[in-house]
Amino acid sequence: RTVYVNGDYLPEDQAMVSVFDRGFLMADGVYEVVSVLGGKLIDFEGHMVRLKRSLSELAIANPLSDDAYLAAHRDLVARNDITDGLVYLQVTRGNPGDRDFAYPSADTVPTVVMFTQSKPGLADAPAAKTGWSVVSVDDLRWGRRDIKTVQLLYPSMAKMEAKARGADDAWMVEDGRVTEGTSNNAYIVKGNTIVTRELSHDILHGITRAAVLRFAREAQMQVEERAFTIAEAQEADEAFITSASAFVMPVVSIDGARVGAGTVGPVATRLREIYLEESLKTGV
Ligand code: PLP
Repeated sequence: RTVYVNGDYLPEDQAMVSVFDRGFLMADGVYEVVSVLGGKLIDFEGHMVRLKRSLSELAIANPLSDDAYLAAHRDLVARNDITDGLVYLQVTRGNPGDRDFAYPSADTVPTVVMFTQSKPGLADAPAAKTGWSVVSVDDLRWGRRDIKTVQLLYPSMAKMEAKARGADDAWMVEDGRVTEGTSNNAYIVKGNTIVTRELSHDILHGITRAAVLRFAREAQMQVEERAFTIAEAQEADEAFITSASAFVMPVVSIDGARVGAGTVGPVATRLREIYLEESLKTGV
């Protein structure tokens, strides 16, 4: 695999960053994941807008132009012969040469790393036909989940707890209400209404979420942006999650209770179809 590091394209075993990089020492960095379908980048512009916001919230200088990010994504997709898969992009505050809590001087050059993951048939994931089971866990993350930082230890712990409990993912709960999944936004469906938590510092502002809510409104569905409890979700007609890599994925069980009939429902299925169709059309 060919990996991008600070402007160079290198074989992955030669791609290296310093042990003093603040991404490594302090999780001082942000990332994006863009999916690739049929060789096209899905929702690329939205991901770049969020990347720039994450960088700006952390006062990390944006090291590349929009055109350079796009060119690097396309180069990596081509060099690695990716038809379906993902492009991972990470920008850290870089290597100040020593370890210190204070941010280094503004001339410290951010580190940019990008790599691909090939996932043939990504859009035809069998799980979309059977749905995920999720379990609830306390949300013990920090208070700025709207910034897409690389500090992913708690979501990893939650994912491991979900697996230990025989589930596919965890829904995190704070003050009695669902915030989001370990790496996705959470939704329930009641009749013709889709309910998902409102945007705030408590959740990541999903790029897929924005697109799916737009398509839902265009399809005359009602959208309520508000928090919901696990009990309300267990009594809903349907549930699902969204993310750049899972698109729209139905959730059929929550803490062992079936959601609706316990099978994949029509609303999640339709939104998945619309999302895949529309985002392929606008892919770059
Ligand atoms: N919420 C969290 C915590 C995430 O990590 C992610 C994606 O990685 C999402 C939501 C979904 O965001 P997107 O649709 O932009 O992939």
